[in-house]
Amino acid sequence: MEILVVGGGVIGLSVAINLLLAGHKVKLAVRDRKEGASWVAGGMLAPFSEGLEGELLRFSVESLHLWHEYLDRLQDISGRRVYFSEGILRLALTEEEEQDLREKVKRYSSEFCKSVASYETEELLCEFPYITKDVRYAVLYGEEGNVDTEELMEALYVAFEKLGGELLNEDIVRVRREGERIEKVFSVFGEFTADFYVFATGAWLKEHFNFPVFPVKGHILRINAPLKDYVLYSSAAYIIPREKDVLVGATTENKGFDRRITLGGVKQLTEGAARVVPSLQEAELLEVRVGFRPGTPDEKPVFYFGENFLVLGGHYRNGILHAPLTAEIALRFVDKGEVSEYFKSFSPYRFK
Ligand SMILES: Cc1cc2nc3c(=O)[nH]c(=O)nc-3n(C[C@H](O)[C@H](O)[C@H](O)COP(=O)(O)OP(=O)(O)OC[C@H]3O[C@@H](n4cnc5c(N)ncnc54)[C@H](O)[C@@H]3O)c2cc1C
Repeated sequence: MEILVVGGGVIGLSVAINLLLAGHKVKLAVRDRKEGASWVAGGMLAPFSEGLEGELLRFSVESLHLWHEYLDRLQDISGRRVYFSEGILRLALTEEEEQDLREKVKRYSSEFCKSVASYETEELLCEFPYITKDVRYAVLYGEEGNVDTEELMEALYVAFEKLGGELLNEDIVRVRREGERIEKVFSVFGEFTADFYVFATGAWLKEHFNFPVFPVKGHILRINAPLKDYVLYSSAAYIIPREKDVLVGATTENKGFDRRITLGGVKQLTEGAARVVPSLQEAELLEVRVGFRPGTPDEKPVFYFGENFLVLGGHYRNGILHAPLTAEIALRFVDKGEVSEYFKSFSPYRFK
């Protein structure tokens, strides 16, 4: 089949690569390669540290389990190495957070996560003396991980092209839809038809579909600091040691598509980082980035299908984590007509 995927973030690319591997001819329309949230994301694969619940937790854990295979395959196809580390240390900084974390770890470890280690304050500070003494309790989720998202995105683009995918540098400005069929899509100067369409336009989904997906701005810092070990996840900030730098994230702001870097955003993250690791006061600030998470009112994705199209969006804070399973669901739908149960869970009709 000839398939047009609109959107070149982690979701569009992962879907496109799965379709190419299955023998389809795939074009990918992207108006700006680096516009997407996927390039600035922290890259944490963190359903437990994020404290997810219900169907979103189940979906996220299922996707987490696909990550090793997804990454191995991507590295094989692209020939690129993508930095990946395992284990996230979830910190509780207040009494309330401590209670919540103690309750959650019991549940997660009995149902979902086998590799769990709990630390009381003294044990933690003995092993990680750079962490704030204010910490009350911590849990190491060994199955969680972190991926370098710039390396990931570059590898995805290389893999897409190596598999014969055709990249269109196009801004899709209009979609002609007759009921549940897409007839055509239009860019500024051209028009495109395909046998099947996939729309994965992140925070911009509302441009073509009247679903409640909106941008949630996030500032994230890149710093230079001698931190190794695990990702530190706390309510004040998360700190992600990588090979080439350390990330400090992230703010959560409802300010539309406001790309400005603000003093308030930087202040929140620098103070948050120093609260978790006091020595970071002295760290060198390398860069500040801003991205737009595709948010929804209940923080769950939005999946929709018509006769010849799929809409896959609203991944909010966990789109990197969700990419492998979303791509599997898309492939099973296109090739076998299989309608995953998640089309029901994440249907846009839930908002009506
Ligand atoms: C600061 C920050 C930290 C984050 N941290 C994490 C994390 O640690 N772990 C995690 O799992 N997730 C994280 N996220 C969330 C994650 O980045 C997103 O959920 C994910 O990237 C969404 O992917 P996407 O492909 O749907 O959208 P995007 O990556 O935003 O891509 C959308 C694409 O669509 C294209 N596009 C849009 N409209 C059109 C059009 N009309 N025509 C052509 N192309 C179009 C854009 O150019 C872009 O290429 C974070 C996000 C932010 C902002």
